Amino acid sequence: MTEASRPAPPAWAGEIAGRVRGECQAGAPLAPRTSVRVGGPADLLVRPADPADLALLLRACEELSVPVLVLGAGANLLVADAGFRGVVIRLPIDFGEETEDGERLVLSSGAPVSRLVQRAQAAGLTGCEFAAGIPGTLGGAVAMNAGTRIGEMKDVVERVEVATPAGARWIPAAELGFAYRTCRLPPGAVVTRVQVRLRPGDLARSLAAMEADVEHRRRTQPLHQPTWGSTFRNPPGDHAGRLIEACGLKGHRAGGAMWSDVHANFVVNLGGATARDCLALIRLARQRVRERFGIALDLEVRLLGDFGGESVD
Ligand SMILES: Cc1cc2nc3c(=O)[nH]c(=O)nc-3n(C[C@H](O)[C@H](O)[C@H](O)COP(=O)(O)OP(=O)(O)OC[C@H]3O[C@@H](n4cnc5c(N)ncnc54)[C@H](O)[C@@H]3O)c2cc1C
Repeated sequence: MTEASRPAPPAWAGEIAGRVRGECQAGAPLAPRTSVRVGGPADLLVRPADPADLALLLRACEELSVPVLVLGAGANLLVADAGFRGVVIRLPIDFGEETEDGERLVLSSGAPVSRLVQRAQAAGLTGCEFAAGIPGTLGGAVAMNAGTRIGEMKDVVERVEVATPAGARWIPAAELGFAYRTCRLPPGAVVTRVQVRLRPGDLARSLAAMEADVEHRRRTQPLHQPTWGSTFRNPPGDHAGRLIEACGLKGHRAGGAMWSDVHANFVVNLGGATARDCLALIRLARQRVRERFGIALDLEVRLLGDFGGESVD
């Protein structure tokens, strides 16, 4: 989209930009903020300056009835070609105070997942080996209950701090409804800090476990191409990638998007892919897998924005 063809920002955008202290960008392109590099702009992208600024922003959005979405590193998102009508919040890497107390670490949700791994190693703690090599922020990892074959966020998260228009509070992990690649955050809640509990252990073994897990993924996933990672959740007792491959779709293309020829549950952007191309692949795989195996695949990737009535079915 060129400067000239970009729609004028809505009236509320100026009102919100005038109230918050953080950086605001109207018509912010979202494609470069996602790992698959697809999708249109957000009406307004806001990077709150600190927790007080975030509180103010959330109250303003509620008062003006503006839809809000939190963006992590965009490693699990397909943004519509039309973009997102509302405010997209992107928290800075260091947001809120980080602390370390024995086996407990409190980390900023805007920090990359790799910070958890580094801090654990530096403190002589183990238990978060699964997190090595997972792209994204800690906030996104909580929202997605990110993990691998060797563990997931729910194994280490003790509580999370959230901000809502009503204020900030800590929510214990038991109330977060963590399940396979999902968690139940209160509607509109922004995770601001994450408290994990790890345990002292053998650091050399911990490192070896991380290296083996990362190496396995390097061999089996297209990590050097633009992608959002796994498209579908694995159905019980099976693998979405195996089912898609069995339907003959590995390497199948729609426009600039392709079902990866390395791992059939990953869509890759070969260059110039649109959200429409990606959705066409998703729809085709769901149809074929349903027809051939009677299995309805559930999306793991989150769809963001207005897809103009196009569905994944
Ligand atoms: C190459 C590749 C490999 C991957 N491998 C894995 C893997 O092995 N295991 C795995 O689990 N995932 C994997 N993924 C997916 C992705 O890394 C995870 O889902 C990750 O947790 C997404 O984090 P993010 O910060 O990018 O979140 P985003 O993609 O930006 O957002 C994902 C969801 O989280 C919400 N969210 C983000 N931040 C917050 C916040 N602070 N508060 C509230 N909600 C928030 C968003 O609104 C959205 O609904 C992979 C992705 C890629 C590209």
